Amino acid sequence: MNIKESLSKIRSSIPDGVTLVAVSKTKPNEAILEAYNAGQKDFGENYVQELVDKHEQLPKDIHWHFIGHLQSNKVKQIAPFVHLIHGIDSLKLLQEINKEAVKNNRVINCLLQIFIATEETKFGLSFEECEILLNSDSFKQLQNIKICGFMAMASNTDDETQIRKEFRSLKEFSLKLSTFNLSPLTLSFGMSSDYKIAIEEGSTMIRIGSLIFGERNYTK
Ligand SMILES: *Cc1c(COP(=O)(O)O)cnc(C)c1O
Repeated sequence: MNIKESLSKIRSSIPDGVTLVAVSKTKPNEAILEAYNAGQKDFGENYVQELVDKHEQLPKDIHWHFIGHLQSNKVKQIAPFVHLIHGIDSLKLLQEINKEAVKNNRVINCLLQIFIATEETKFGLSFEECEILLNSDSFKQLQNIKICGFMAMASNTDDETQIRKEFRSLKEFSLKLSTFNLSPLTLSFGMSSDYKIAIEEGSTMIRIGSLIFGERNYTK
């Protein structure tokens, strides 16, 4: 299957209201343009320099999502144009994003990354840390960021019951967060291997790479 066919196959299997982010990390501009010409407008990258280069070279109406682990000192490079930052897991990083957003005279959309997996290696806040952050005075002072919802990654396992349980825990957490108003709520979870389960468990944004562009030759 080519990129266009893969995209339409995925699109036909996701309901309205679920946004498909095409994860184009490591993929050349030609591949991105092929997807773009097939109507894809949302793309996800996880390295700042790669994202900056692609933003410069590709059509300006693309919505660029930053889905990697963002370092504070690199925020300024993407602040002028980024559409949504997915992987935020500290107040310090939010403060830096807010600072750069002010400089650029814009409000930057953000998702807090929540740790739902069993592995030690994944980034993210616990549910408790997330609530503390959202209720803190320091957070409430940040006027130029908008928290649109949450992002998470399930454990890297074949155990569908486990994956489902992890996704469900995030959905339930988001429902009981009455402390502030997130509407419409964005829940970014689900990748090539688990997006169908993710949608069944309430995902509103799936991030799909290899199923669209083929396997990546190297992992970054
Ligand atoms: C690479 C990546 C994806 C896409 O992974 P695939 O398995 O290729 O669909 C999704 N989310 C994040 C955070 C990623 O780094």
